[in-house]
Amino acid sequence: RPVVSDIPGLLDRWAAERPEAEALRFGEVRRTWAELDERVRRLAAALRAEGIGPGDRVAVLDLNHPSCLEMTLACARIGAANAIVNFRLAPPEIVYVINDAGASLLLVGPEFAAAAAAIGDRIPSVRRTVGTDEYEAWLAAHEPEPGPAQVDPADCFVQLYTSGTTGFPKGVLLTHRAMLAHSDNVGHSFEVDPTAVVQVAMPLFHVGGTSYALLAIAHGARIVMLRIPDPAAVVAQLEQERITHTFLVPALLAGVAQVPGVAERDLSAIRTLSYGASPMPLPVLRACLPLFPGRMHQVYGMTEACGVVSALGPADHEDPSVAHRLISAGTPIHGCEIEVRDPATGDPVPTGEPGEIWVRSAQLMAGYWTQPEASAAAVTPDGWLRSGDGGHLDADGYVYVTDRVKDMIVSGGENVYPAEIERVLAEYPGITDVAVIGVPDERWGEVPRAVVVAPGGLDEAAVLAHCRAHLAAFKCPKGINVVDELPRNPTGKILKKDLRAPYWAGRERRTV
Ligand code: ATP
Repeated sequence: RPVVSDIPGLLDRWAAERPEAEALRFGEVRRTWAELDERVRRLAAALRAEGIGPGDRVAVLDLNHPSCLEMTLACARIGAANAIVNFRLAPPEIVYVINDAGASLLLVGPEFAAAAAAIGDRIPSVRRTVGTDEYEAWLAAHEPEPGPAQVDPADCFVQLYTSGTTGFPKGVLLTHRAMLAHSDNVGHSFEVDPTAVVQVAMPLFHVGGTSYALLAIAHGARIVMLRIPDPAAVVAQLEQERITHTFLVPALLAGVAQVPGVAERDLSAIRTLSYGASPMPLPVLRACLPLFPGRMHQVYGMTEACGVVSALGPADHEDPSVAHRLISAGTPIHGCEIEVRDPATGDPVPTGEPGEIWVRSAQLMAGYWTQPEASAAAVTPDGWLRSGDGGHLDADGYVYVTDRVKDMIVSGGENVYPAEIERVLAEYPGITDVAVIGVPDERWGEVPRAVVVAPGGLDEAAVLAHCRAHLAAFKCPKGINVVDELPRNPTGKILKKDLRAPYWAGRERRTV
């Protein structure tokens, strides 16, 4: 078999070798490899007819639908790229992403038609908006392009946006080569083959959606796509479609564990249930382990690396002698290297010491769209991605993700890692959720402040005394805010920038 180095080439391969095998299911929709290939070729012709070509961007604003995946594949065929929009964003953020991408065409699902119309005059690059209700007719009006695609493996395959946990979302350029390396590496770790049935439950704007779809395409496995990540629908599909591989974020998995009767469902087809993208609360993990015994994998990764870079396998989930590893993100997957470096100097730190997690792999992005400076700052000349995550490695090579480097507090010249303080506060009876942020201070530059959820109320002086008993003075919070709920993004990450904002209004906060 020749080596396939671009993604349209993969579609050609499956369409030639297994034309009648099923490639995709979505509700009642069934598509074979031959049909998927033909539709992508039609869509490529339709895009060219709109004047879209190499280097151009289109955008999709919709819940999960096969048309979004077809759009990604068709754009990749003609050297353009689909910049998939996070449909959960507020209208000004949607405007930001579409303008950042400079999208020429916008494909819109029915739920977003009114929102797209309302922002129409603020997205000047969009020359044509296509509703998914017109999509079939649009496709049918074009003949499938013949022949192989003329693409370079270094071309951008898809442009996905980061979650924007620490700032504005950034358009991450993921090449054919990087995506295929990711599919090879994850496929190797999770044993994906043509018998696999891969559930795409997460939205396609997230690497957990698009990279999972690509994982299936790379290995000739069937995709079963969900329109929305609803826990009951996830469980029903796992059972009915005999799903073998899925990826769910912890918040969704928490919902899965609470679906009535879930323990009685036949979920035995699952070979790999992976979860990640944000920290997994231990109670949720404990509730899920009996549902998927021997099949749970925690994954750690980021958009900039096409998805997964490390994984904690089933043995580490189930062996009580290594229970401490349940809070780690495992070891690097095949094809990825991980080191922990001093974020200021870039020097490696000793085992067990905190620093920034760096990743090297063929899976890394080509850079951020139109942001050469941010791209150069993110990837070193010798190919290491600075993840922006604080953490450490233990003596067995397990990586622990603790903080965002941008959340690290520099107080009087000392580095203070919020996670350490948060652990101490979380032990205090009555505190159910906690975040520690850096707030401005005339004397120390910045000092830690705690924001906690304590439904039964809290004695602030007693909590601060508990901190003083367990932490060095410079790490003790200088005050505590009690709130009803911490702000989180849809994948469950605490939005510390929102908690900090009122304290830093009008001032610039310096980070490493
Ligand atoms: P931005 O870069 O705009 O702030 P973001 O980093 O949240 O957004 P993503 O690429 O969606 O964008 O998320 C990657 C981040 O998610 C990682 O850098 C890490 O902080 C977090 N993460 C991923 N997997 C895990 C995990 N298993 N445990 C804890 N955190 C995780």
